Amino acid sequence: MFVLNYLRRIKYTSIDMKCYKVSQLFERVGQMDERRQCILCGKIVSNTRNHYYVHFPGQYSCSYCPAVYTRSDTLLLHVRTKHPTVA
Ligand SMILES: [Zn+2]
Ligand SMILES: [Zn+2]
Repeated sequence: MFVLNYLRRIKYTSIDMKCYKVSQLFERVGQMDERRQCILCGKIVSNTRNHYYVHFPGQYSCSYCPAVYTRSDTLLLHVRTKHPTVA
């Protein structure tokens, strides 16, 4: 596990962090494991959105699609219009 994290860290250091979306920032831990591993710090988390804000404070990401907004009210509007069945 430690070796894997080390390799991942080297692999991703050259990528511009600003282009990450929530769905791109995490990888599955295993076939039967619902948790995700952060590709930036290697931490294994169950709530990817909470952990996303650790690296990208002040950004609000949609739970239902890869959209990311800088304002919470803009995200709310997006969820209400784009995902009316879940809002
Ligand atoms: Zn992380
Ligand atoms: Zn959305």
